[in-house]
Amino acid sequence: LRWNEEMFLLVFRRLWRHLPRLTSTSMEHMRTLKPLFTIPQRWKPVRCIRARYCSNLANTGVTSKERRTTPDKFKSKVSSGPSFEDFIRGVSVKKTYAADGDCSDHQSYLSEDLELGNSRKVYFETYGCQMNVNDTDIAWSILQGKGYLRTVDLSEADVVLLVTCSIREKAEQTIWNRLQQLTAMKKRRLKTQTPMKIGILGCMAERLKTELLEREKLVDVLAGPDAYRDLPRLLTVADGGLQASNVLLSLEETYADIMPVHRAPQGYSAFVSIMRGCDNMCSYCIVPFTRGRERSRPVSSILEEVRMLSDQGVKEVTLLGQNVNSYRDTSEEQFCSSDLTQLSRGFETVYRPKQGGLRFSDLLDRVSRIDPDMRIRFTSPHPKDFPDEVLHLIAERGNICRQIHLPAQSGSSEVLKAMRRGYTREAYLDLVMNVKRIIPGVSLSSDFISGFCGETEDDHLQTLSLIREVGYNVGFLFAYSMRKKTHAFHRLQDDVPAEVKQRRLEECIGVFREEAARVNAALIGSTQLVLVEGESKRSAQDLCGRTDGNMKVIFPKEDVSAQHAESNSAPVNAGDYVLVKILSASSQSLRGRAVSHSSLRGTMKHCQLDEHVASDRNRTETCP
Ligand code: SF4
Repeated sequence: LRWNEEMFLLVFRRLWRHLPRLTSTSMEHMRTLKPLFTIPQRWKPVRCIRARYCSNLANTGVTSKERRTTPDKFKSKVSSGPSFEDFIRGVSVKKTYAADGDCSDHQSYLSEDLELGNSRKVYFETYGCQMNVNDTDIAWSILQGKGYLRTVDLSEADVVLLVTCSIREKAEQTIWNRLQQLTAMKKRRLKTQTPMKIGILGCMAERLKTELLEREKLVDVLAGPDAYRDLPRLLTVADGGLQASNVLLSLEETYADIMPVHRAPQGYSAFVSIMRGCDNMCSYCIVPFTRGRERSRPVSSILEEVRMLSDQGVKEVTLLGQNVNSYRDTSEEQFCSSDLTQLSRGFETVYRPKQGGLRFSDLLDRVSRIDPDMRIRFTSPHPKDFPDEVLHLIAERGNICRQIHLPAQSGSSEVLKAMRRGYTREAYLDLVMNVKRIIPGVSLSSDFISGFCGETEDDHLQTLSLIREVGYNVGFLFAYSMRKKTHAFHRLQDDVPAEVKQRRLEECIGVFREEAARVNAALIGSTQLVLVEGESKRSAQDLCGRTDGNMKVIFPKEDVSAQHAESNSAPVNAGDYVLVKILSASSQSLRGRAVSHSSLRGTMKHCQLDEHVASDRNRTETCP
C-alpha cells in the first residue's frame, strides 16, 4: 500500500463518514478514546493535503469517458480503504463480504478482547433503595459475562464499584467519605499488585458527574443508571490510566434481556425490576433527573425471569420500579389501544394522560399465576395508580401480599400542592378507605417528609392527624433536604429551620410508633403465615421471618410438626413457610411461637378453616 496524499484523502473521507457516530456517543466518549489512537510512524510525514481528484483533473488530459468513470473508481477505493477502526490500537478488523462482493465492517471501537475481565475481582457496595440492589445484580451479570470474578473481600478487589443514592444529602456525604477511605487504600497498594480501580454507579454518578471526576481525582469510572452495559468498556479505558464515564440517560433502557444474578444471602427471595424512571416530577425529588423518564420492561421478559426464579425455588418475588404501579408495557401492538390510563379516584398527574399499554393489574395477574406458592410483593408505588381493578386482584389472589405502600409525604393539602403530588389530603384518605374496604386486613406503610418548603405548624399538625387516622404498620420518615436541579430548588424556599424540621420529624416518629403499636397489637392471638429469613440478629436461639403484611416476626428456634395437625416434627430453616401464633407485639415487630410447617396454598385452606373457628371466638384470629 502506497501512503500518499490520495490515500490520506481516502482516509479523511472515511473518518468524516464516522463523525455522526462519534458525536452521538458524546464528547465524554471522545475523551476516553483519545489514548487509543496510534498513528504508525510511516503515516506521519504527510505534509501537504491536495485534493488531487478535484484540482488536478483539468491538467491530466483524460478523455470525457475516463472523467465519468473516475468518480466511480474513487468511490470504490474509498469503500475498500481503511476504516475508522484501522486507526485504533488492538482492534482486529474483520470484514464481511456479501455475495456481491460488497464489504462491511461491524466492529465496536474497542475489540471484545480488550473488554474482557481476565478474572479480575470486583467488589460491590450498594447504598440506597432496592432498585440499587437490583442494579447491582444487573451490573454484576454484565461483568460476569465478560470474565470478571466477584469478591466479598475488599482487600483483594481489583475493581471497587459503589452503587450510589442521591436522594438525600446525607446519602451523598456517606459516599464522599467512603471514596476518601478507598482512595487511601488504593494508594497503599503495592506496586507489584494490579492497580485498584474505583467506580461510581447509579444516581450520584448521574447527578455529580463533573464533580466526581474532578474532585481530587477520586474516581476512575462513572456509569449512570442507564449505562451499565458500557461498564466493561469503561473499565478497559480506565486500565489505560484515564478516567472513563458514561452518564447518558436513555428513553428505552430497561435491561430486559439481562438476567440479573440474584445474590439474596438466603436465596429464597428476589427482586425483579419491571420499570425504570419517573415522569411525576414531584417538586422535592431528584429521581426524574438521575433515573430519567418512565419506561417499562416488556411483560414477556418479566414472566420469563419470574418463571426462572420459581424453578430455582425462590419463594418471594418483589416487583420493583421507581413508580412500580405506573407500569405500562407498549412493546406489543396488541397492547396499544386508545384507552386512557386509569388513575385512583380524585388523583391527577402533572403530565398529559397516557394512552394504552398493558397495565400493572395485567402484569400482576400474569406474574401471580406462575407459581401459587410464590409470594408477590411490589414497591415502590404511587398512590395515584391504584384503580379498583388492582385492589380487587390483590384481594382475590392468595399469593399477592396484602400489603400496600401508600407514600403520603404530608397530611396537608397545601404542602401536597407545593410538592406537586397530584392529590389532596381528602383524596388520599378516600383512597385509604377504598383500600381497606376492598382488602380487609391490609397492612399499610407510608413515607413522610417533615419540614418541606413553606410547611407551617398547622400543616405539621395535619400530618400528625393523618398518621393517626390511617394507622400504618410501617413508616419511612425523613426531614426535608433540598436537592439541586429539583423544582423546589428553583422555585421554593427551604425556609423551615433545621431544628424545627428535626422536632417535627421526632413528633411524627412518636405518633407513628404509637399507632403502629396499636395496629400490631390487634394481631396478638392470630396465626400468621411466616416466610423464614434466618436467625434473629439479636439471638441465635430465635428465628426471624415476615408475615404476608411484611411485619417482622421473632420466634424460638425449635422443631415443629411437618404439616398442620401432623405429629412428625422437623427443624425450621430459612426459606420455609411456617405458621406462627402471635403472642406479643411492639411498634416494630411481632413475637410468637411456630405451630407447624406450611405452604402458601395449604395455609389458604387452613386459614379458611381457622376463620370459622375465629368467628366462633368473636374473630380473635385473623389470617393473611
Ligand atoms: S413519584 Fe415523585 S417522589 Fe416518587 S420518584 Fe417520582 S418524582 Fe420522586
